[in-house]
Amino acid sequence: MDDFIIVGAGPPGSRFAYQAATAGYDVTLLEKGEVGKPLACSGHVSTDIWEYLPADAKDDLFQNQISGARFHVGGPDSTAYPFYKSETISHVIDRVGLDKRLARRAAAAGADLRDEHTVVDVDEQSDRVVVTATTPDGSKTTLTSRMVAGCDGPTSRVRQSVGLTAPAEQLHGVLAFSEEPDAGDRVDVHLTAPTFFAWRIPRGDAGVEYGLAAPPGAEVPQLFDELTTAYDVDPSRRCSGTIPIGPPDSVTTDRVFLLGDAAAQTKPFTGGGILYSMTAADIAASTIDPTAPSSLDRYETQWRDELATEIRLGSLIRRCYSLPEPVQRVGLRALDGEIGVHMDRPSSFFSRAQLRQLFS
Ligand SMILES: Cc1cc2nc3c(=O)[nH]c(=O)nc-3n(C[C@H](O)[C@H](O)[C@H](O)COP(=O)(O)OP(=O)(O)OC[C@H]3O[C@@H](n4cnc5c(N)ncnc54)[C@H](O)[C@@H]3O)c2cc1C
Repeated sequence: MDDFIIVGAGPPGSRFAYQAATAGYDVTLLEKGEVGKPLACSGHVSTDIWEYLPADAKDDLFQNQISGARFHVGGPDSTAYPFYKSETISHVIDRVGLDKRLARRAAAAGADLRDEHTVVDVDEQSDRVVVTATTPDGSKTTLTSRMVAGCDGPTSRVRQSVGLTAPAEQLHGVLAFSEEPDAGDRVDVHLTAPTFFAWRIPRGDAGVEYGLAAPPGAEVPQLFDELTTAYDVDPSRRCSGTIPIGPPDSVTTDRVFLLGDAAAQTKPFTGGGILYSMTAADIAASTIDPTAPSSLDRYETQWRDELATEIRLGSLIRRCYSLPEPVQRVGLRALDGEIGVHMDRPSSFFSRAQLRQLFS
């Protein structure tokens, strides 16, 4: 019997697998398809990302550096309100490559990585968890472990199987790419989508990404078409995904715990979840003992201690996306300019130093 079966080889799944295998636990990491595919993410992250990777990873994964954002209440021709730092705030990276790199690292540390294994059932028993997975040839595999980590994304099968509550909200995000190189250091954010936004991200030699997220509905594709028409581009490689917002009250049972999008460990004001999910994975690795189910309480408490305030403040920032346009304009005009904010920590926006800078 394994110590841990981890379902899903996205960033938190592979990060937790790496940490648990390094600590000497027996770990199986199941991934339903090819690691990293299909793409459904911008890969726009704070520079903290490199702390989770070997030193040479940046050579393969880095695409562009960003030092600020231009906010628009309307489309590309509307007034731009710049928010920036004099230094780099974030990096745009190859997201497929990131997942592959993290999964390879977990396997090298001793995790048994099995791709093309789709988990279809999780049966939690008093002393073990029985996991059933299928492979593309139709065969079924049954595995047992002391604990299971559900790292299988926003629509988590693990979460459903053990009866944990879904996130409060699921947004629908779409992305597409045009090929002209753009090494600009500003992203454009358009407050033109209900309760969220549309964006343009320069990805260096990898081209330009256009995206939009909003509550699900027929409007999303239409608003996305309006965005690309306004930019006068016809981007290709369109893809889409779900952004979960609002963690449920519990992400643990007796022997199962959720990490990443399955637990809605995301930033409500950007939808970003790569860094939060790996932060939570490290907390899980340092708190959970597979022979002691009660240790899951420590994980539940500590990840919330680390992230719940940031998530709550992130929700407050997101509310501004729904203010009436004239109010948004006044607010953006009052606040734009140089900022001292960390993109993963909304609390830095409300810090004394930042408020002094804004109102001086
Ligand atoms: C349009 C869009 C843009 C985004 N942009 C950013 C961004 O710029 N920066 C950022 O930080 N975040 C961004 N995110 C969010 C980010 O993608 C997620 O927060 C992050 O991927 C969370 O990782 P995860 O492993 O929890 O989930 P996922 O990345 O969804 O990974 C889940 C993994 O589990 C596997 N899986 C699912 N079901 C099963 C099963 N039954 N059996 C086995 N394996 C299974 C999947 O194949 C996948 O590999 C974006 C999301 C969207 C939708």
